[in-house]
Amino acid sequence: PQSAAPIAFDNSYARLPDRFFARLAPTPVPQPRLVRVNEALARHLGIDPQRLTAPEGVAILAGNRVPAGAEPLAMAYAGHQFGNWVPQLGDGRAVLLGEVIDRDGVRRDIQLKGAGRTPFSRSGDGRAVLGPVLREYIVSEAMAALGIPTTRALAAVTTGEQILRQTLLPGAIITRVARSHVRIGTFQFFARRGDLEGVRLLADHVIERLYPEAAAAAQPYRALLDAVIERTAALVARWQQVGFIHGVMNTDNMSIAGETIDYGPCAFMDTYHPGTVYSSIDSGGRYAYGNQPRIAHWNLVRFAETLLPLLGDDEAAAIAAAQAAIDAFPARFEAAWLAGFRRKLGLAQARDDDAALIQDLLKRMAENSADFTLTFRRLADAIETDTPARDLFDDPAAFDAWAVSWRQRLAAEGGAAAERRIAMRAANPAFIPRNHRVEAVIAAAQESADFAPLDELLAVLSAPYDDQPRFARYTDPPKPHEVVHQTFC
Ligand code: AMP
Ligand code: MG
Ligand code: MG
Repeated sequence: PQSAAPIAFDNSYARLPDRFFARLAPTPVPQPRLVRVNEALARHLGIDPQRLTAPEGVAILAGNRVPAGAEPLAMAYAGHQFGNWVPQLGDGRAVLLGEVIDRDGVRRDIQLKGAGRTPFSRSGDGRAVLGPVLREYIVSEAMAALGIPTTRALAAVTTGEQILRQTLLPGAIITRVARSHVRIGTFQFFARRGDLEGVRLLADHVIERLYPEAAAAAQPYRALLDAVIERTAALVARWQQVGFIHGVMNTDNMSIAGETIDYGPCAFMDTYHPGTVYSSIDSGGRYAYGNQPRIAHWNLVRFAETLLPLLGDDEAAAIAAAQAAIDAFPARFEAAWLAGFRRKLGLAQARDDDAALIQDLLKRMAENSADFTLTFRRLADAIETDTPARDLFDDPAAFDAWAVSWRQRLAAEGGAAAERRIAMRAANPAFIPRNHRVEAVIAAAQESADFAPLDELLAVLSAPYDDQPRFARYTDPPKPHEVVHQTFC
C-alpha cells in the first residue's frame, strides 16, 4: 500500500540538542532535472522509485520541496584538514532531510549534498557541480557492489544553475544515504569546546544507533572506541585490497560508522605504486595509497582523545585505556589486510611467510608498472600456467620468479585448482571505476547532456566480479593518452 508521504521518515538526530546542528531547508534551484534514481536502493529504503521520478519527487531531490516528515538540518562538526585543526566545519553544502528504517531494519540518513548555503558554509557557495556528483555516484555505487562499506547514491539531479569553479559548470545535487553522517570531526567539535555533555550525548546516540552491543559492555565508551577502531581497520584494509585512494582522509571525512564517506578527489589506481596520489589538493602526498593505514591510525587517535573524559575515573586510567585501544590498531589492520590478500592470492590457510609472499608480489608490481586490478584478476588464470598475468609486468620474468614461490605455497596447501579459481575471482574484481572511464562519463554528461555512458558504466560496475565478456573493454587500463593524473573535488 502506498503511504501518503513518499518517504517514511523517523528522525533521531533532529531530537538531539540544538547546538548539534542548524535547522534549515535546502535552497530552491531554478530548473531541476532528474539525472538518475537508484531504483533498487529506493525500494530497499521503502521508497517507491516512481514517487521519486515524478515531478514532486524530483522537486524533493532538488531541494525545492521539503517532504512530509523531514526535519532538514545541517550538522555541526570540526576536524583536522591535512593535519591542521579547524574548529568549525559542518555541513556547508549538505542538508540532512531525515532518517528512514530500511528493509533490513537499519536506520539510514537521507541527505542532499549541494543543497545550498548553510551557517557552516564559510566562503563556499553551498553548491556541487555535475562532475564530482557523477564521480561520487559512480564510485560509491561501485564500492557497494564490491562489498565495501560505503555511503550510497540514491539520486542525482541537475539544478539549472551554472556554478563558478575554475569555469562555469552545471550545478547538481546528489542524494546520499549513510548509516550515519557522524564523523570523527563531529566528536572533535564538542570535545575541543570542552562540551563534555555534548560528547556524551553524541557517544550515546552513536552507541544506540550503530553499536548497540557496546551498551551492554562493562565500559560502553571503551567498547565504542574499540568497535570504531575495528571497523575502520577493516574498512581501510578493504580499500588497500582494491587499490582505492580516498584522497581526503581528514578527520571530518572519516565516518564513525566505518563507511567510506565523502567521495571527492578519490580514485582507483591503475598502475600499482604505493606512493600514488591523484588529488589535486594533496601536493604533499599525505593521503597517498600507501599512507592510508597510518592516516587512519592517526585519525583514530584524534577520536580516542575526544572520548578521554568518558574512559575512566581518573586521567591516567583514561589515557591508559585509550592508549591500549589505539595500540591495537596496527594488529587489527594487519590481520584484516592479510586475510584479504590471502583470499586474493587463493590461500585458504594462514602460514607465517604469507605477508612476505604478498609484499614480494606488490614490490615486483611496483617495479614493473603492473596494473593493480588486472594483475590480481589474472592470478586466477595463472595457477597452473604463466600467461597472462606475466604480460602485465615490464619484465615478465619478475612475475615468473614470484610465481614459482606462489605455486609452491599453493601446492603445499593442496586443494583443487578449479575451486581455488572460483574463490580468487570472488576476491579479485574485473571491473573497477577506472578514472578514464569516469572522466569520459563526466565529459559526455557535461558537454552533450548525454547520460547513456553513465548508465552503461553503472551497469558494468554493478557486477564487478563477473566476467561480462560483452564489456571486456571496461577492464582495460587507460592507453597512455587516456591516463588521468589528477582528480578534483
Ligand atoms: P570536504 O573537503 O568536502 O570534506 O569539505 C570540507 C568542508 O568544506 C565541509 O565543511 C564542507 O561542507 C565545506 N564545503 C565544501 N565545498 C563547499 C561549498 N561549495 N560550499 C560550502 N561549503 C563547502
Ligand atoms: Mg567532507
Ligand atoms: Mg567533499
